Amino acid sequence: MYQPVTMELTTRGRPLRIHLISTGVVSVKRRYREARGRGLRAFLDFVFDNRFTGWLPIWVMAIEHPDGVFLIDTGEVASVMDPRYFQSSGWIVRWFDRSQFKFDVRREDEIDAQLGALGIPTSQVKTVVLTHLHFDHTDGLKHFPATRVILNDLEWKKPHGTLKHLWPPDFHPVPVPLDCPYEMFERTYALTGEEDLLLVHTPGHTWGHASVLVKTDAGPVLFAGDICYSQDQLIREKYTGANASYRQAHDTYERIKAFARHENLIVLPSHDPEAAERLKSWTPLYNLPPEDLAGRED
Ligand SMILES: [Zn+2]
Repeated sequence: MYQPVTMELTTRGRPLRIHLISTGVVSVKRRYREARGRGLRAFLDFVFDNRFTGWLPIWVMAIEHPDGVFLIDTGEVASVMDPRYFQSSGWIVRWFDRSQFKFDVRREDEIDAQLGALGIPTSQVKTVVLTHLHFDHTDGLKHFPATRVILNDLEWKKPHGTLKHLWPPDFHPVPVPLDCPYEMFERTYALTGEEDLLLVHTPGHTWGHASVLVKTDAGPVLFAGDICYSQDQLIREKYTGANASYRQAHDTYERIKAFARHENLIVLPSHDPEAAERLKSWTPLYNLPPEDLAGRED
C-alpha cells in the first residue's frame, strides 16, 4: 500500500542513503488522529467516535551513513493482528488498543523482511534509535536482539503510554542525555561524530519523545515520529487526541516551524500518508528561496 522510498544523498560530500519504509498500516479513530479540545474532552471525543481514518502508514527510516546503518524506529509486526496480542495488558488497555486501532500488517511488511529486500541484513544495522516507546514503534525490536538501541533518557525514565510486556525479553536500551543545544532546539544528542545525525527532544506526544534530524548536503530532513499525524496538522496548529502535554506539543510545533523558516526542512511524521511523496519530490515544509536560507555556509 505504501511503497518504500530510497533517496541517494550526500553528507559533507560522502554518500548517504535514506530509506523510508512502512511496516504495514494502521487505522485510528478520526477524532484520535485530530482532536477537538484537549485532555479528557479529546479522549471522550475519540473514544465515542465511530468513524475510522483510512489506512495510515507506519514509517520507519533506515539511514545508510558513512558511520554505519542507523534504523529509526522498528515499526509494527504481524502478530499485532492476533486478537490475543494485548491479552496480558489488563482489560482497560486491551479494550483500548483493540477498539481504537485497526492494523493490517503482514509478515512481509515487518522491518527485517523489508530491509532484506533492500539488501540490508538486520545484522548490518549498527544502531536502532527509538523516537519513543509506543508499541507501533518498538514491536519490530524483536528482529534486533543484539543491536545497540538508543533512546532519549527522559523517555526511558518517564515513559508515557508504553506496554512494557510487549518489549523483547532482555531489553536493555542505552538511554542518552539530550543536553546539547542546536539552533532552536534546546536538547539534542549527536548520533555521529560529524554531528550530521541528531536526536532532538520534541516532547508533547510523550514527555521524552524525540525526532531525528538528518543534515544532508541537500538540506535537513526531520523524522518526526508522532509529534503530529500529518504535516498539515503542524501548519494548521491541530493536535492529535493523545498528548502527554499539549503545551509541550505546541512548543515543539513552534520550534520546528521556526527552524523551517530559515532552512528548507523536510518533515516526515511516522503516520503521514504524504511523507514518502514529499521525500521523493524533496518538498520542504516552507519552500524558501535561496536568498532566505540563513546559515547554510556549511
Ligand atoms: Zn506514539
